[in-house]
Amino acid sequence: MKLYVIGIGPGGEEQMTLRAVRALEQCDCVAGYGLYLDLIDSLIQGKERIQTGMTREVDRCTAARDAALAGHTVAVISSGDAGIYGMAGLMFEVCESHPEIEIEVIPGITAASSGGAVLGAPLTNDFAVVSLSNLLTPWETIEKRLHAAAAGDFCLCLYNPASKRRTDHLQKACDILLSERAPETPCGIVRNIGREGEAFTLTTLGALRDTNVDMLTTVFIGNSQTKVINGHLVTPRGYHGV
Ligand code: SAH
Repeated sequence: MKLYVIGIGPGGEEQMTLRAVRALEQCDCVAGYGLYLDLIDSLIQGKERIQTGMTREVDRCTAARDAALAGHTVAVISSGDAGIYGMAGLMFEVCESHPEIEIEVIPGITAASSGGAVLGAPLTNDFAVVSLSNLLTPWETIEKRLHAAAAGDFCLCLYNPASKRRTDHLQKACDILLSERAPETPCGIVRNIGREGEAFTLTTLGALRDTNVDMLTTVFIGNSQTKVINGHLVTPRGYHGV
């Protein structure tokens, strides 16, 4: 009894690993948010689909588990990496009392690495990833983590920087970082990574505070060493000048 949890990268097909494509070929049933299934449409022709809305994660994983128990080889699809704010953890939890289901997690390219590549090389030194969504994590905890990352001079990669209901989280996050970091600190924003309409902007921490972002955006904040080289956001590793 086999169930794959597959990260399809930020934009599907072109960004999938060969391992992910081959695992998908083994499956006769796929579960995922509709948009993600659309991104890999040509790879899942003829396969049974378990399709639910964005916020029906538990329903989707339960349905995927039941399909595996019924004898299907199932693929649960996550965007980016399945283990980074993805479905992998929930899938293990939902299958806890069914150890007979063999779960294999297949990693994908996460927004931090794919978005970083669009901007240049912003994460070449120590960095922290923080989601600004307080749907599942209390805002006080998010603030605590941002303060710690600011104190440690980590580069930051922010996932879920805003949604329709939460529009001021990025502003609050920038204010925390501005308590430790210069307003001139170089930053970058990448939208629709690997998808139609991919776009990026270079900015500064001071200006980022008043920038509008949405949930399809990943935000990069430099550390004290980050600079812009010929239009690319770069955090030196330190090789140069050794
Ligand atoms: N598992 C995903 C992350 C899911 S959390 C991964 O590993 O990439 C959702 C957040 O990820 C979004 O709010 C956004 O910040 C980021 N994200 C995911 N896909 C993206 C894309 N194609 N372009 C820009 N940001 C993306």
